[in-house]
Amino acid sequence: MTTQRTVLVTGGNRGIGYAIAEQFVAEGHNVAVTARSGEGPAGTLTVRADVTDSASIDAAFTEIEAKLGPVEVVIANAGITRDMLIMRMSDDDFDDVVSTNLGGAFRVVKRASKGMLKARFGRIILISSVVGLLGSAGQVNYAASKAGLVGMARSITRELGARAITANIVAPGFIQTDMTAELPEATQAEYKKSIPAGRFAQVGEVARVVTWLAGDDASYISGAVIPVDGGLGMGH
Ligand code: NDP
Repeated sequence: MTTQRTVLVTGGNRGIGYAIAEQFVAEGHNVAVTARSGEGPAGTLTVRADVTDSASIDAAFTEIEAKLGPVEVVIANAGITRDMLIMRMSDDDFDDVVSTNLGGAFRVVKRASKGMLKARFGRIILISSVVGLLGSAGQVNYAASKAGLVGMARSITRELGARAITANIVAPGFIQTDMTAELPEATQAEYKKSIPAGRFAQVGEVARVVTWLAGDDASYISGAVIPVDGGLGMGH
């Protein structure tokens, strides 16, 4: 049994974030989720926050700290795609994706780091993607944002590592969520052929890796990229 922690998952109202929050609850932790709409799973505290807005993140942390205590584990999961070939990608589609996926993680971790430094403990987990390291045609914005998270986690490791704060990346491959359901069926079949496991993953397969990384057994892992991709990225 790992120590009970106060956990925050961004974008916990659906998809991978919802499953991560559900898994933390099942393992006995105090869990808050941020959501722009909807609610987190049963047993979580849902707070409204938009990760592109520092003031709303600050307000969310203040509410969580008052109700659950200081955040010890933060999962930066909220993310979007705006796919387009680079020639036709608008500046806004580039900026929005980077500001949500990379900037959002920065804003949330920056706010969380205050309490973690004081507590001399913290677990920071950033949800990247296999695409961040492999690249993907039509996803220059998304891949750049997800690759940026790797440099972010490693720099945080160097800045905060001596205070028992770890920062790691979980890099999912294709997971069955709204994000992948949007892909045409023929494209999904094509992708499955390129995945050594021959299938997409269930959200729980990502969630259980995240809770393990946040647990006591993972205290000496930091700056790592943990792929959950059925072999697609071959360990990258
Ligand atoms: P979904 O599209 O199902 O959910 C995205 C979540 O992010 C929602 O909760 C959404 O909130 C939230 N979100 C988006 N923008 C913001 C914002 N500005 N502020 C706050 N919350 C926001 O995505 P998935 O569950 O599939 O993906 C979760 C993470 O995993 C993402 O970072 C994604 O890039 C990554 N990932 C997903 C893969 C997959 O195959 N599904 C593969 C690799 C990585 P709302 O409901 O309000 O829109």
